[in-house]
Amino acid sequence: HPDSGNSIRRRFLEFFATRGHKVPRQVPRATTAQKCIRTNDVENVGRTSRHHTMFIMCGNFSFGDYFKKDAIAWAWELSTEEFGLPADRLWVSVYEDDDEAFSIWHNEVGVPSERIKRMGEEDNFWSSGATGPCGPCSELYYDFHPERGCLDVDLGDDTRFLEFYNLVFMQYNKTEDGSLAPLKQKNIDTGLGLERLARILQKVPNNYETDLIYPIIEKASELANVSYGVADDPTKTKLKIIGDHMRAVVYLISDGVVPSNIGRGYVVRRLIRRTVRTGRLLGIKGDGKGDREGAFLPIIAQKVIELSTEIDPDVRNQAARILEELRREELRFVQTLERGEKLLEQMLKESLSSGSENGSEPCLSGKDAFLLYDTYGFPVEITIEVAQERGVHVDMNEFDAEMENQRQQSQAAHNAVRLAVGNDADLAETIPETEFLGYDTLSARAMIEG
Ligand code: ATP
Ligand code: MG
Ligand code: MG
Ligand code: MG
Repeated sequence: HPDSGNSIRRRFLEFFATRGHKVPRQVPRATTAQKCIRTNDVENVGRTSRHHTMFIMCGNFSFGDYFKKDAIAWAWELSTEEFGLPADRLWVSVYEDDDEAFSIWHNEVGVPSERIKRMGEEDNFWSSGATGPCGPCSELYYDFHPERGCLDVDLGDDTRFLEFYNLVFMQYNKTEDGSLAPLKQKNIDTGLGLERLARILQKVPNNYETDLIYPIIEKASELANVSYGVADDPTKTKLKIIGDHMRAVVYLISDGVVPSNIGRGYVVRRLIRRTVRTGRLLGIKGDGKGDREGAFLPIIAQKVIELSTEIDPDVRNQAARILEELRREELRFVQTLERGEKLLEQMLKESLSSGSENGSEPCLSGKDAFLLYDTYGFPVEITIEVAQERGVHVDMNEFDAEMENQRQQSQAAHNAVRLAVGNDADLAETIPETEFLGYDTLSARAMIEG
């Protein structure tokens, strides 16, 4: 089907290939479809309809070749002609000072000015750091509710709009004193979210229900013995979390990342633990198929591997190693969880006896619940449930305070990892090092953005 996730990916690459974009060395224009990991979106997974920890970003790049005019015209042609999105459903944003981009969108492409929004630095100005190459962005949004009109429109309203394509115009060099000097070589760096475009074209309510992710969710539903279609929202959210995280961990492990307590290894470990816990909350026991000592992650991972062939053919070659790594990590974590269960049992006994001693309602402290969560990886939802069954209340205010405290301490660990696909290693070598310090999208190695 032309609108399947894999076709969309192929059509994007072909569109730019026929416009002179290549993947070999020393090229002025390139086009890629890269795996991206963004752990800073982990809390959004399953809660918004559009964020994943791992997604495919299609991109077209110009290294000192074409600039704003072509980048904008092609983004429009790709969206409206190649993918057939109705022109009157598209809105664009430009950086507030970028009159040039505004004028190209309005005068050359013909987008009515009320559908071009000027936005500030936070949303529409890209820079790699305090100094270095930087420049304005322009984003394309799809409008799901044109009947709501053009007055008081906020492109950030995700009940109405979906950002799917971002164009970065690298045109300045920011110097120590904060001034912007024009770059001699101007570059284009774009990103189009494959799952987001698939969602629009496949006319499903969120990215998770596209053919890129839904089969994984179906597998998880089968193990949990629920049906996604009729499930309540909390159940759907859990299934989406599993669908998202399993994709991320399979690709990360395939790229050689091993679960550990530091760096990228910790990213994988955290995602695996979240998946295991989420599975238990859905009632998946053991492998979900009757073996209580078994692991369920490898069963779901199998589906991710099946879906990976076009995105990254190497995943299939790594299948055995991926499945074994997941099995081992899951079983190890389940042991930790079970130790937590024993500790909780003790804590509950103490709460009950001190409650009856001083005639107050038995309460488990937030500190204890946090210890279980933080050290034993024990989900607080399970703590609450088990405590409730025993008539014990959990001090959630104290728990939340502990969480907040930890969140502040670990802010720095909120990293974003981006991975490049197989043969982009060649592409990365075409990048002149001094000019492209910020081009993490082109990095061939998995890396962590601070
Ligand atoms: P949003 O505002 O929706 O969080 P963004 O502005 O942070 O998106 P960019 O950094 O501009 O995203 O990335 C380029 C494109 O990559 C976006 O236009 C979108 O299509 C896609 N994208 C970004 N973050 C995610 C994500 N977490 N999951 C899926 N796709 C994403
Ligand atoms: Mg974002
Ligand atoms: Mg945005
Ligand atoms: Mg953006």
